[in-house]
Amino acid sequence: MCKPSINAFFRDDVLAMQPYVPGEQPQGGKAIKLNTNESPYPPPPSVIQAIQQAASRLERYPDPLATSFRLRAAEVLNVDADQILCGNGSDDILTILTRAFVSSGTKVRFPYPSYILYRTLAQLQGATSEEINFEADWSLGPSFASADADLRLVYLPNPNSPTGTMVSREQILELADRLPCPLVVDEAYVDFAPFSCVDLPAANPKIMVTRTLSKSYALAGLRFGYLVAHPDVVQMLRKVKDSYNTDALSIAGATAAIDDQKWLAENVRKCNATRDRMTTGLRNLGFAVIDSHANFVWCKHPQRDSRELYELLKRSGLLVRYMNYEGWSDGLRISVGTDSAIDAVLAVLG
Ligand SMILES: *Cc1c(COP(=O)(O)O)cnc(C)c1O
Repeated sequence: MCKPSINAFFRDDVLAMQPYVPGEQPQGGKAIKLNTNESPYPPPPSVIQAIQQAASRLERYPDPLATSFRLRAAEVLNVDADQILCGNGSDDILTILTRAFVSSGTKVRFPYPSYILYRTLAQLQGATSEEINFEADWSLGPSFASADADLRLVYLPNPNSPTGTMVSREQILELADRLPCPLVVDEAYVDFAPFSCVDLPAANPKIMVTRTLSKSYALAGLRFGYLVAHPDVVQMLRKVKDSYNTDALSIAGATAAIDDQKWLAENVRKCNATRDRMTTGLRNLGFAVIDSHANFVWCKHPQRDSRELYELLKRSGLLVRYMNYEGWSDGLRISVGTDSAIDAVLAVLG
């Protein structure tokens, strides 16, 4: 008798879904990574010290609510500690939100092009994705706010990836008013940007803001992110998260990191200066570059094949992200690196 394939046991939603493919993480190589928006500079020494101290108490379970981080973050962000829910990176927060709000057969909505993970999270819940194109000026058209009885959650990365563009606070407030469901403002890159929405959830429980320490705080390897929402939302979401979704080392490191706002301001200043220099440099070489409020830029050369440019840079040890958004465009997303890394990119492209 022939055995049934092991696949027969998996849920249909899992069988049907496309895997989310993160940017390459070459192991042990000497490539300069400009493909996943990591910080080119290391975190402050105080973070490493805090992690080393926490490493002497690993026989204990961590604080399930990461209270030390929440208290410090609440002061920095001028919100209440009860408004903060911590997670294993902000991807964990996005997973918690999707599990909490999106049931099988319903819909989620997000702009296009944007973060592909939203699609994966929806598929895992057995929900469908409505991906709505940005307008030509990178704002959102009226259909993005349209009512739909099946709609359960809307994601809006702000600044957006891969474009680095932003939607105004006024538009976000209006959107939240018109939408029949909660609005998740994904602020993964907001520290590089001129404004944030972190103050909005206190007054409007339908607005939820996610943050990460992976980009601006140079802690992608630590895995720490958080949500700022209305206290009633946070209370309910505690039921959905894993009990210990942030470990003792990440809580210690994240608390030390958010405590050092002077370091953050300096890191952001350096990265934004390099971003602006890279934008000018690429334009001087004939690239079309979108003005970015994040730590990366999206660019495309009108005459050159983007994939070939990606290969050319890779052969020189410079790893950028080639992306092809069907129905929109392909192009290169280049993360802000050190000044010498960006000079090397400009030299190769030149
Ligand atoms: C990087 C990124 C995240 C996730 O970051 P974590 O490392 O999981 O905290 C979330 N949203 C967007 C748009 C991102 O680019």
